[in-house]
Amino acid sequence: MLHSWKVLGVGILNKQLILSIEGLCKTYETAGGSICALDNVSFQLEEGELLAVMGTSGSGKSTLLNLIGAMDIPTAGEIKLNGIYEEGMFKEPQATVYRRENIGFIFQSFNLLKDLSLEENIALPLVLKGETDADIDRKVTKMLEITGLNKWRSHRPVELSGGQQQRVAIGRALITSPPIVLADELTGNLDFNTSTDILQTLLEMKKVFNQSIVLVTHDPSVATYADRVLFFHDGKIVDEYTCTRTDEDMDIILQKFRHILERSA
Ligand code: ADP
Ligand code: MG
Repeated sequence: MLHSWKVLGVGILNKQLILSIEGLCKTYETAGGSICALDNVSFQLEEGELLAVMGTSGSGKSTLLNLIGAMDIPTAGEIKLNGIYEEGMFKEPQATVYRRENIGFIFQSFNLLKDLSLEENIALPLVLKGETDADIDRKVTKMLEITGLNKWRSHRPVELSGGQQQRVAIGRALITSPPIVLADELTGNLDFNTSTDILQTLLEMKKVFNQSIVLVTHDPSVATYADRVLFFHDGKIVDEYTCTRTDEDMDIILQKFRHILERSA
């Protein structure tokens, strides 16, 4: 009995909030007028949670990731990391420090450096952090094993398939063990089988590093990998779904997404 209470206690402790997004707004001022890309968005991300953000093109998904990653400045609202809002987090040099210590980015277009080998690409964030050669070597060797890329370690990105390149990008994003991973349409350029392989790699790595992930996608089958799905329309959260890990997930996510498509039509 005592033992089960202990287990329950650990379970509760594990469910800590890592991110609290409160009243986030982003308006772009353009020559053609103001564009409201995010409109009073609030949600929370738990430690170790995989959250999918779904929405049609232009619904504000990339804007949201850019703000969470301090790549852009919100018009209003706050992003709290572990319950704390840092006033200057969007200004340099704090923004770079915040990104380097907390965020791993994975993009649809892989964004690898073409003149560097695969292992140099993966090592880059550690080099920028100023880690020692011995630490870099140890971490990169482990990452090459986890991503199954050891055989290609000295190849350049152009010599690799799309799926392999995305695995390099995931390795590079996770090599510093950032607590938060932001993935923008990470399987958008990949076929179905390769996408499945990439998502499995991401899940396996999440088990090793216990990352919290925000995964932007317009693909319902990708969203079924998440713990929870937020549905965006016109810069607002309009629906939400907690996955049950049953066949029902795909049907409900599709149904909710269709509902949003109908709103946009
Ligand atoms: P999504 O990723 O869901 O396709 P985005 O976040 O890229 O959507 O864009 C949301 C809205 O903001 C769109 O109307 C888009 O045209 C606009 N937008 C995005 N980035 C900029 C920018 N840098 N300048 C002006 N408008 C932008
Ligand atoms: Mg986008």
